[in-house]
Amino acid sequence: MIKLNLVLFGPPGAGKGTQSNFLIERYGLVHLSTGDLLRAEIKAESELGLQAKTLMDRGELVGDDIVIGMIRNKMEAHLDAKGFIFDGFPRTHAQAEALDVMLDAKNEPIVAMLALEVPEEELVTRLLGRGATSGRTDDQDEAVVRNRIREYEKKTAPLKDFYSAQGKFKAINGVGSIADITERLVKAIG
Ligand code: AMP
Repeated sequence: MIKLNLVLFGPPGAGKGTQSNFLIERYGLVHLSTGDLLRAEIKAESELGLQAKTLMDRGELVGDDIVIGMIRNKMEAHLDAKGFIFDGFPRTHAQAEALDVMLDAKNEPIVAMLALEVPEEELVTRLLGRGATSGRTDDQDEAVVRNRIREYEKKTAPLKDFYSAQGKFKAINGVGSIADITERLVKAIG
């Protein structure tokens, strides 16, 4: 059986987490969000969590080895999954390469990279709005929010070319109602 391995891609605030929830239900997938995994480490006050927190609070990326290791562990814990949704991962070229190596070894490649596209000012409004209610400290400070968007543009957005070269990149308009955006994603998955 071909596994439905998807990368849900986009800048912070594009709606990756929200849309993941619909897609995991619809297709029976396992959700792998490195942001959620890191926040769980922070909550557990682990060594890794403490290291990651300083970077996350500044809106900078956590080291590649840390997030790649977390993804590897989770994939090994779900060998019978129908597929994975990678949310917030990969965020760098090194992460994308490492993911391909892990998936190629199992002959279960990424099927599509779905990129939610949202204008920057809308992202800032959404993130600061979320910060007011979610308690996420990295969503509460405009300078940190803008730094995360800069990090995305500099290190993560170039991955569109990486997946384009594999014929897997699909741009999705990320502005509109949640239901409309889900429908666009479902259509793109085909
Ligand atoms: P997110 O919940 O995806 O917005 O991630 C929150 C923060 O966790 C980011 O701003 C980064 O500091 C860190 N983070 C999450 N995923 C990654 C990743 N794949 N690579 C590096 N840092 C990450």
